[in-house]
Amino acid sequence: MSAHAGSTGVLFDVGYCLLDESARLGRALDWLAAALTAGGRPASPSGLHALYEAACRAPDPTQPSLVVQTLLAIGLPLPDAQSMRRALPWDAVPLTPYPDTLAILRELRDAGFRVGVLANQPSSTQRDLDGAGISALCDGVWLSEAVGLAKPDPRFFRVALTAWGLAPARVAYVGDRRDNDVAPAKALGMATVRLRVGPHADQPARGAGEVPTMEALSLAEVVPQLRRWRASLHARPGAGAVSRPSR
Ligand SMILES: [Mg+2]
Repeated sequence: MSAHAGSTGVLFDVGYCLLDESARLGRALDWLAAALTAGGRPASPSGLHALYEAACRAPDPTQPSLVVQTLLAIGLPLPDAQSMRRALPWDAVPLTPYPDTLAILRELRDAGFRVGVLANQPSSTQRDLDGAGISALCDGVWLSEAVGLAKPDPRFFRVALTAWGLAPARVAYVGDRRDNDVAPAKALGMATVRLRVGPHADQPARGAGEVPTMEALSLAEVVPQLRRWRASLHARPGAGAVSRPSR
């Protein structure tokens, strides 16, 4: 443990970050294509997938659900899109960790970082995190449905910052989305790591607010970046500290 153990933290997103959401997305698009086709509006999973990826590259800030945004793109009226999203058994497929998820969390903990999860996820994701052994390695798990707040609402991030008693500048957020992950964390003064994984990998920045502090192509790449980031904080001891680290 470093002399600064616990004085810096890392919060992780879930989908396309700690857990792979692609099997769940594939099943969801299959279900939607079948439901649309049965309702007299023929649709294919591959066609929906292309529209979903387009939504990921240009997420509508007024529409929190990418599934709803995808259904609007095929011409479904908003109330129909919303009711189909509600009927969709989104969490029927469990989320599974990436091969290096547990090792990365252990490495960060051993290096003295606090680690936690903060994600827009149904409460059922707690079961996936527990089952994978992730929760046991975390100093906090905050899921939107359970908390009653969701990204990009800064209040959601503040719940974790307050629980840890750390200033935003001493906490990094790691996620795959520029709009929901990078932008709100950066606006609060947190460090940000954009993980270029999954359907948001090619999401362009819509402004300086969506440009992260760091970028990584895999979880393994995140660890050295976070070590360098923490070293830069310690080179400027006053930067972002709530109080002096105990020695
Ligand atoms: Mg994600």
